[in-house]
Amino acid sequence: MEKAFTMDQTWLQCMNCGHRADLLEERKFRCPECGGLYDIEHNFKRLPVDLGDDSSGRKWSFKSLSSRYFRELFQARAGGAFNSFKPECVSGIWRYKEWIMPYLPEGQIVTLHEGNVPIVPAGKNLQAWVGDVELYIIMEGMTPTGSFKDFGGTVMMSIAKAAGIKAVCCASTGDTSAMAAAYAAAAGLACVVILPRGKVTPVQLAQPLVHGARVITLPGSFDDCMRVMQELVREYGIYPANSLNPSRIEGHQATVFQIAQRFNWNLPDWISVPVGNGSNCSSVGKALRLMKKFGFQAPTKILGCQSTAADPLSFPWFGGITLEKWKADYSPIKVGETSATAARIGDPVSRDKVMREILASHGAMQTAAERELNEAVAICGKDGHNVCPQTGMALAGVRNALKCGQIKAGERVIVVSTATGLKFGESAAANLKSNIINATDCKISTVAKIMEL
Ligand SMILES: [Zn+2]
Repeated sequence: MEKAFTMDQTWLQCMNCGHRADLLEERKFRCPECGGLYDIEHNFKRLPVDLGDDSSGRKWSFKSLSSRYFRELFQARAGGAFNSFKPECVSGIWRYKEWIMPYLPEGQIVTLHEGNVPIVPAGKNLQAWVGDVELYIIMEGMTPTGSFKDFGGTVMMSIAKAAGIKAVCCASTGDTSAMAAAYAAAAGLACVVILPRGKVTPVQLAQPLVHGARVITLPGSFDDCMRVMQELVREYGIYPANSLNPSRIEGHQATVFQIAQRFNWNLPDWISVPVGNGSNCSSVGKALRLMKKFGFQAPTKILGCQSTAADPLSFPWFGGITLEKWKADYSPIKVGETSATAARIGDPVSRDKVMREILASHGAMQTAAERELNEAVAICGKDGHNVCPQTGMALAGVRNALKCGQIKAGERVIVVSTATGLKFGESAAANLKSNIINATDCKISTVAKIMEL
């Protein structure tokens, strides 16, 4: 099979020691020299685009030409969504193909038309609860499998297909397995998912089954599932669909690109994300750095939010810390119970990338107590927005960051809502069960009486 792209176009590079590897050959996604995580790098100088020239005779820099070129290109594709089925037009991820996976041939793309999610202003109840910021939510749960994982999944599965992989595997707190199963099905690949028994919601258990994946549950936590999966990758060369596979980070950068485009290429003061394994922080940070490279203003700071039940990366923020100092002080924690099950992780696999991006953006970490994150979800519901408990974490984190002065009054903040509340309907319904009125019979008079008519 002819290779989809070469190593001088797109390659893997260790974030610690710079060791390079071939994205299409790699299976372990850990640097053999130092054990570090890989980033994907592209040689943008070889982009198959024509940045043109300016006829006024003025001298234009690469940065000013490229920011104008890409603004126009991405705008045209968004406008062309109704008269084309090309991936660049139908997918809110592949619209930004030149920034995400520029050298992948179009025929290799596996898409379920993901992306293009709404970015909604906070409803009035939420706005009053959070306080004096200009607040929006990007609804990444409005995707084919109901979570943000589809943003990265479309790229990961496209690369797996281009690499000639026959089967993918993931350990999951629920959302990753749904994504992996659906995209593997679309690509015609086999999929195995490993879940912590009793720790995912019924919907999250059903999703991989619906898409024909082999589902294995373990009598342990997510961290146990992840350890087994990593051993399978090491020992048997299984292809991992987890976030240590950096193809996912490439696709998930579209969060930032969509926000930028929605606000006429003006990025907000803050992007607040829930932190579980860390793929949100990693991708948001990488995207901000990339946009700077292409001549955009990207002053956005990242707020990483965890629940107090699982906060291995949250620490009081006094500034002045370095990545090395943080790494030296880090140790995994034992997690407590939380309704934010997707972020119930004591030893996040992408922690080094999370801290690199938080520090590079001059951002911060925050925590949300269980009561606060549940309150945020309930309040969103009253505004008509059904969001997951992890979104509650990121919303409560904004409120707490505003209270302690990390976020300033009046700043524009976009909260990443990582999944739909529909996946967590059972716990929401249990909390609200007392509001159900059970009529004693089927008579209209009985119902009218209850309605106080
Ligand atoms: Zn290395």
